[in-house]
Amino acid sequence: DQLISQIAAGEVVERPASALKELLENSLDAGSTDISVSLVQGGVKQLRVADNGNGIAQEDLAMALTRHATSKIASLDDLEAVASLGFRGEALASIASVSRTQISSRALDTKHAWRIASNGSEISPIEPTALDAGTIIEVDDLYFNTPARRKFLKTEGTEFGHCEAAFNRVVLSRPDVAFMLQHNGRALSRYAVSEPTKRFGEVLGADFAAETIAVEESAAGLRIWGVVAKPTFNRNKSDTQYVYVNGRFVRDKLISHAIRQAYQDVLHHDRHPAFVLFLELDPNLVDVNVHPAKTEVRFRDGQAIHRFIFHSLHKALASPTG
Ligand code: ADP
Ligand code: MG
Repeated sequence: DQLISQIAAGEVVERPASALKELLENSLDAGSTDISVSLVQGGVKQLRVADNGNGIAQEDLAMALTRHATSKIASLDDLEAVASLGFRGEALASIASVSRTQISSRALDTKHAWRIASNGSEISPIEPTALDAGTIIEVDDLYFNTPARRKFLKTEGTEFGHCEAAFNRVVLSRPDVAFMLQHNGRALSRYAVSEPTKRFGEVLGADFAAETIAVEESAAGLRIWGVVAKPTFNRNKSDTQYVYVNGRFVRDKLISHAIRQAYQDVLHHDRHPAFVLFLELDPNLVDVNVHPAKTEVRFRDGQAIHRFIFHSLHKALASPTG
């Protein structure tokens, strides 16, 4: 079972940043309004996420580190099939199987906090600990027991960069939550609860915020909102392109194409469009779980999505204020 967990971990936990993404999603799922991330050595030595969410009840703590549906994998060949199920309830178990993981948590409306630890193969007995509220998950020494995986880790700077990018994707999408990031003991960023446009400016820079046009359209069960940069906004460093589908960051060729086409059509320019856009639609019309660690989506009606995004952006970019 440990081997299977480690194989699954390879899929879910490609690098520290993928573990961080899972931990942040869990904190958000728990209704947290304040999340602090602390990394050491690019997240390889330590990844620590502290939140003020609902917590985990004492009797559920061991469960949180245990794989739920082991019967789904009979062989390596089945891995593909399992991946398509989205590894529900597997992220934490996968992370724990390739690291030394500790969870401290205090469930809402309970008096005591509890702590559990895993050394990669064995889970310690639950013991009392002190914690005001929420959950702290600490992941130490990622891949310490899987040298083959450890070999693929890049430099501290590169791994930190990936972690920061994963952090920023979440921070952009949840202005209603406060966030903090520190690396090697140094506080790097702190975001108070805010409004979307204010948060975008805080994360992406005042120059971006000053050069944006608001997008807001709804039609036939589809909604898109956010900001697109005016053509005067020119940033030659890495792309400022964020698309979220029902709150999840995605990279989607169809969406990118619709956006680029709108820029091309209105501005005759599509080189480095910058944008933060949120697409919302009936969850039954999109599969966001194509792969647990990747950012693909599959739409039931891709053409309708393409048309809607193209028209929405076209309208925004062609507006007099734009
Ligand atoms: P999933 O998120 O798919 O349920 P995970 O392996 O990511 O699976 O997490 C396992 C379980 O641990 C979650 O379902 C949740 O009950 C609990 N959990 C993990 N992190 C937190 C957290 N920060 N706050 C509260 N509960 C948590
Ligand atoms: Mg999860």
